[in-house]
Amino acid sequence: MRVLLTGGSGFIAAHCLDHLLQRGHSVVFTVRSDEKGQKILCNHAGVSLDQLSYVIVKDIAESTAFDEAIKSEPPFDAVLHTASPFHLRINDPKDLLDPAINGTLGLLRAVKKSAPSVKRVVITSSFASMMNASQHPAIYDETSWNPITWEEATLNAANAYRASKTLAEKAAWEFVKKENPQFDIATINPPLVLGPVVRYLSSLDTINTSNQRIRDMIQGKCKDGLPPSFGVYLWADVRDVALAHVKAAEVPEAGGKRFLIAADAYMSNADIARIITNNFPTLSHHLPAKLESDIPKDVYGYDSSKSTTILKLEYRNLEDCVVDTVNSLLAIGP
Ligand code: NDP
Repeated sequence: MRVLLTGGSGFIAAHCLDHLLQRGHSVVFTVRSDEKGQKILCNHAGVSLDQLSYVIVKDIAESTAFDEAIKSEPPFDAVLHTASPFHLRINDPKDLLDPAINGTLGLLRAVKKSAPSVKRVVITSSFASMMNASQHPAIYDETSWNPITWEEATLNAANAYRASKTLAEKAAWEFVKKENPQFDIATINPPLVLGPVVRYLSSLDTINTSNQRIRDMIQGKCKDGLPPSFGVYLWADVRDVALAHVKAAEVPEAGGKRFLIAADAYMSNADIARIITNNFPTLSHHLPAKLESDIPKDVYGYDSSKSTTILKLEYRNLEDCVVDTVNSLLAIGP
């Protein structure tokens, strides 16, 4: 397949790119600057420009952002849309809502208008689009939706992020229903994504949001006590999440489906800290001696079996994930 991968500089996208290339697909990725594009190309020095190249898409919040990027020769067969802001450093909720919603809709419109060869668009949504923090269902699965409203989105940055993912995903499903385009969509809905960081990260200061807790633990920022696990006790390894994206583009039956991507067991910050202490004795003095899980006894259930039956995912365990992540962070620096 020839694939457009949006947000090529991102944490999850870097692993999508690796899986796409390993599986023989040719890829055009989008980045905001030549500097970022060149860095990624340099890290794939052995790959030809026919197989890997980039286009600049400066700001996905602009409704025409993808109008040119979607045109390719040879034409695209599929799109993986990972680009969306995932941080809480905002002045206004719109800083998250606009790129998430306009970015998704602008991309779908551009595909419909100018890329008739595209048969599947895979969108990185989130467990945030499924989670109902005020009233958890007994079991989360692909029928679960976050009931967050526009008004609630403006209350704080965390709400704005959750709303950005929920409203963008809803907008995508509505687009398909209303516009009946030549392609179908699949959404990937992971909870906390942990895992080895990309090779081209120059400093741990710029690490992606979801790995920050592991960075903080190895830098001694949690010595006096771990932060709470924040109600999300589900997680997945970034390599599994990335493979889910690629399989969702490849597997015909994935069309029209949402996929909850979650590893086989719950996790808490105490579990992560214990793995670090056991596997990296020289880092143990950075962590509290007493580690207690804060997973509630009546924690919600979840069913991610569609990911194993349709996408045939086999999930990594937390120990392998944390060990590989810590090693990748130590390779970058203090
Ligand atoms: P990153 O921050 O590493 O990646 C985000 C990507 O989006 C970057 O390439 C970034 O570009 C790009 N981007 C953000 N805003 C814009 C914009 N306005 N215009 C153009 N590009 C933009 O985060 P992740 O890899 O973790 O996240 C990727 C996707 O996965 C997001 O959709 C996120 O919501 C979703 N997700 C992540 C989870 C996690 O735990 N990591 C969990 C669930 C979902 P640049 O680097 O140039 O800013």
